[in-house]
Amino acid sequence: MHAMVLNKLKTPLEWTELPDREPGPQEIRVKVLACGVCRTDLHVVDGELPNPQIPIIPGHEIVGRIDALGTEVKNLALGERVGIPWLGHTDGTCPYCLMHRENLCDHPLFTGYTRDGGYATATVADARFAFPLGEKGSDISIAPLLCAGLIGWRSLVIAGEAKKIGFYGFGAAAHILNQVARWQGRSVYAFTRPGDAHGQTFALGQGAVWAGGSDQMPPEKLDAAIIFAPVGGLVPLALRAVRKGGRVVCAGIHMSDIPSFPYGKLWEERELLSVANLTRKDGLDFLNLAPQIGIVTKTTRYALQQANQALADLRAGRFEGAAVLVP
Ligand SMILES: [Zn+2]
Ligand SMILES: [Zn+2]
Repeated sequence: MHAMVLNKLKTPLEWTELPDREPGPQEIRVKVLACGVCRTDLHVVDGELPNPQIPIIPGHEIVGRIDALGTEVKNLALGERVGIPWLGHTDGTCPYCLMHRENLCDHPLFTGYTRDGGYATATVADARFAFPLGEKGSDISIAPLLCAGLIGWRSLVIAGEAKKIGFYGFGAAAHILNQVARWQGRSVYAFTRPGDAHGQTFALGQGAVWAGGSDQMPPEKLDAAIIFAPVGGLVPLALRAVRKGGRVVCAGIHMSDIPSFPYGKLWEERELLSVANLTRKDGLDFLNLAPQIGIVTKTTRYALQQANQALADLRAGRFEGAAVLVP
């Protein structure tokens, strides 16, 4: 097999030939068909997340086809198309797993961070954490659903019943969640980098009722806001934009420091909370719903060997929607 490997933090990935791995008893090996590029991959490469496995093959939005099965795998079959997400393993026994919050497991493994991921021609995954995908939809269009979609979905659920919802950062996750939110009958307010007229036009074209810079106030107060951009300075801005009792959800795994702000911005029962990882239930709920909604993902395709270019383009905001690597 071949892979784009991160051998040292903050250095380019290297195209590498590796021996094929055999799956363990509860694992599957898949031939990778497509792998989405997530902002978290940038945080891994940049060394912004603690204790990565190094060397590591990044990538946790994997669409693949099973070509080898572990001896104990019963729920999946050879040749089946599956999705492999960020949550790669949990212990099943810690207090968080037992309270059905496996996203907070004390001993997890994360795909493309602490176990090898999908920037490769093949990968091995824990079968219990892979989702059957069926045959509907193209590999490339499904890949971004596996993180941007799933963790965005969890963020939207946590945002609650909000009718008027703001998205700070209108990238891969927001462009998917915008479709879910509108299907649910919500109004979406899109906040981009100040002055990003192109991004605002894109958001309006996707059906947002309003688009503006993150430094602007929406025309009316919001019921909730989700912050997708990894910018701590957005937290006080989002709190200012939500009504009394409104909720601000931070969806990212990493964020720059949050500047201090007067207590008055939080007062009146506004809530500020974060979303971490996903549970398998989030994945099943969302992947069942996605075909009903008819989610259309906007993707930019790169060859697997162009992974460094895809990461650079993501960093610079050079494409709309999501980048997807294809071996
Ligand atoms: Zn656990
Ligand atoms: Zn991700």
